[in-house]
Amino acid sequence: MRVLVVEDEPTLNAQLKQALEDDGYVVDTAFDGKEGAFQGEAEPYDCIILDIGLPQKDGLTVLEDWRAAGNTVPVLILTARDRWSDKVKGMDAGADDYVAKPFQMEEVLARVRAIVRRAAGLASNTITCGPISLDLKAGRVTDGGMAVKLTAQEFRVLAYLLTQSGKVVSRTELTEHIYDQDFDRDSNTIEVFVGRLRKKLSQNIIETVRGMGYRIAQDADGATAGTSGGKEA
Ligand code: CA
Repeated sequence: MRVLVVEDEPTLNAQLKQALEDDGYVVDTAFDGKEGAFQGEAEPYDCIILDIGLPQKDGLTVLEDWRAAGNTVPVLILTARDRWSDKVKGMDAGADDYVAKPFQMEEVLARVRAIVRRAAGLASNTITCGPISLDLKAGRVTDGGMAVKLTAQEFRVLAYLLTQSGKVVSRTELTEHIYDQDFDRDSNTIEVFVGRLRKKLSQNIIETVRGMGYRIAQDADGATAGTSGGKEA
């Protein structure tokens, strides 16, 4: 999952980036509204954290312009505590959720998880496919109840495929969602990650769709991805 943080305050921007990376996301950053607007249009993010008070172009205008251009990327806005009108304007402009400053980092992380889950149509943080279960919150994968050791990249590949279950995901799309913009991307490495995942998991749940990409298996031994473990709050 790939997130963009648009926040002009350098310390806060760095704290958000660090917390999101610790939670397993790949993170790009922008420090003013113009830069943020451009990146949000150019790259396919799974979520954007957008400050409202930004230099160059304010966050509300950035958001309105994205929505006017048909960009449906999930957006979490950051508002000042005493500016309730910003929350209303932000939600009306097409924000998916908001957090008021100052905030607890855990709250931001929980809201990003909820946004990503909703965008994927999931009711909980746990996605299952046959014997394999992936917990987006804990960053854990189990296979038949046993923990599977995955690298951060392997986890991101599996998590992205599972959240897109039923769809064919191209290597390019996968690459765009598991690396940040500074990474020297090579879509061949995706094949390597998929190969390693197939070796580590007891059941091959990742189908290759020739010439198109990958898809989570829908028919193998009842291996249909779904969610379990409680309803969304
Ligand atoms: Ca600001």
